[in-house]
Amino acid sequence: MIAIRGAITVDDNTREEILSSARILLSEIIKSNRLEIRRIVSVIFSATNDLNRAYPAEAARELGITEAGLMCLGEMYVEGSLPKCLRVMVLAETGNERRGARHIYMKEAARLRPEYAKFFAVAVDGPAGVGKGTLAKKLAEALGFIYVDTGAMYRAVGYFCLKENISLTDSKLVENALAGMSLSVENRNSIQRVLLNGVDVTDELRAPEVSDASSKVAAIPAVREKLLITQRKTAEGNNIVMEGRDIGTRVLPDADIKIYLDADIDERARRRLKDMADMGVRANFAEIRRNLEDRDRRDTLREHSPLKRADDAVLIDSTHMSTLQVIEAALGIIYDKTGGLYGIRDS
Ligand code: C5P
Repeated sequence: MIAIRGAITVDDNTREEILSSARILLSEIIKSNRLEIRRIVSVIFSATNDLNRAYPAEAARELGITEAGLMCLGEMYVEGSLPKCLRVMVLAETGNERRGARHIYMKEAARLRPEYAKFFAVAVDGPAGVGKGTLAKKLAEALGFIYVDTGAMYRAVGYFCLKENISLTDSKLVENALAGMSLSVENRNSIQRVLLNGVDVTDELRAPEVSDASSKVAAIPAVREKLLITQRKTAEGNNIVMEGRDIGTRVLPDADIKIYLDADIDERARRRLKDMADMGVRANFAEIRRNLEDRDRRDTLREHSPLKRADDAVLIDSTHMSTLQVIEAALGIIYDKTGGLYGIRDS
């Protein structure tokens, strides 16, 4: 038998909000603790006295918890305590299996027990030039999450090798160079800056030769291992939208939401050409297309963490979609996957 604690804050004292918050919290407890509904023995809710428009036990019954003992109590009032807070204690049988409880604290209630705070991760993967950056940035902005562009980290490694004249395909030389490379990312005004040995190199990373170099060094296992550590550390303890090639498959395999963004190569090349024209840069369609194709080939064929749609990723094919439509589709996916906690219901 295990006793699992949880808590969540409710935005408004309405019947709808109370029931949806109770449902989100219980669903997360069930999922994170791999509970079988029939093995739940009892669910006890408590609510602060500013929540009085619905009994949260109703949400438990909606989830199919009909056999367990359900109870709703008033939380004792303590001066200065967190308002509009719903707490829960779930007792469940685990049979012969001995395992610890994973307590879940969501939204403002995460402050009560930071060690049990539940953070959400959105993984956005896809091929070169598909608009992952635009989508991930907009999502992070809309959700109030941190945005992390992992491609920029590979670009920084490529940039360093180009600058130091290190052969991009000599894995031993690149691996040795990693020792002299300290890489970190910072979020300034919602914009990711990349610091290489303490110097902000963000503005140097979009050059075509750096794009090309990045996908070459990205095939080197030692590079991937080094960046994997930085990427996971950045995600720790944060609500995050992270974009790249292997986020859903390798970096954050347990991400709550995985989106695989795809588009036809000609359409991607057209978009890149337009972006460059908008920036006043003259470019050649065939050359851009070739560059994207080369990078895709290297990214999908490499042995370590190749570009691949995770089994549980939702595909958005944006070939015939506007940027706004892609963002709306993604927010709809997030709404469904988080039970309405984040995102926007797809109309
Ligand atoms: O996304 P972006 O085009 O900036 O990525 C640059 C390169 O970094 C990609 O072509 C790919 O080779 C590599 N990359 C990767 N894994 C990631 C992100 C980027 O291999 N998660």
